[in-house]
Amino acid sequence: MDSNISLGTLFAALQPHPNLFSMPLNVLTCFICCASLLKDDILQLQSYKVPINVAPTFLPSTITSFLTDCFDLSSEDVDSLWNMVKEAVWMQLSMESEKAMCTGLFQQYGTHRGITLLTLYPPFKACQNPSCPMDYRSQLLEKEESCHVVIFTYGDGAQPVWSIHLKCRHCHTNYHNNFSVNGLTRTYYGGVPQYIQVGEHQFAEEKLILHWIDLMLNAYGPF
Ligand SMILES: [Zn+2]
Repeated sequence: MDSNISLGTLFAALQPHPNLFSMPLNVLTCFICCASLLKDDILQLQSYKVPINVAPTFLPSTITSFLTDCFDLSSEDVDSLWNMVKEAVWMQLSMESEKAMCTGLFQQYGTHRGITLLTLYPPFKACQNPSCPMDYRSQLLEKEESCHVVIFTYGDGAQPVWSIHLKCRHCHTNYHNNFSVNGLTRTYYGGVPQYIQVGEHQFAEEKLILHWIDLMLNAYGPF
């Protein structure tokens, strides 16, 4: 099968297999992702004569039975699906490479359109104010304002992102990422957010703050 398998070719190949043909697309991509994470294991169990730069024709039986359980498929279906998508599995980028590629695309084509890889939205899509009329609490909040903010992250340094504020048009509660504002009252949401607002336009990733705490404990521990 062509290594650059097209959707049309895949569609035709899936048709004779009813269980595979009815597989949701997100399950298929999950199959490819799981198999890709197992590339080293798949290679390790091949004959030494098998070339390492192309996808092996056959899966080791342990991998087949693992994928059989994961996706509730017969071993025949797993082997058939492997045969269809094995080149796509072999060409699948690592998560780090995929993330780096997406980051590059967002920087090149998204920034000037106001589209950033990470955008901070409030955690709610509808009003949470118990005083707001019930009918309105199921309606989508409307966009009130976009702010350019910086997130200090653990793994990716300082990231420029957009923070979106949403507003209930009925009770005028304004929803931010960490809290809501109604009149003069600011109410923080329950739990610890992934990105904690530490200034008007600055956020810090929770993981980074935990790292700071570890560093301070280590630094002051001996005293
Ligand atoms: Zn409301």
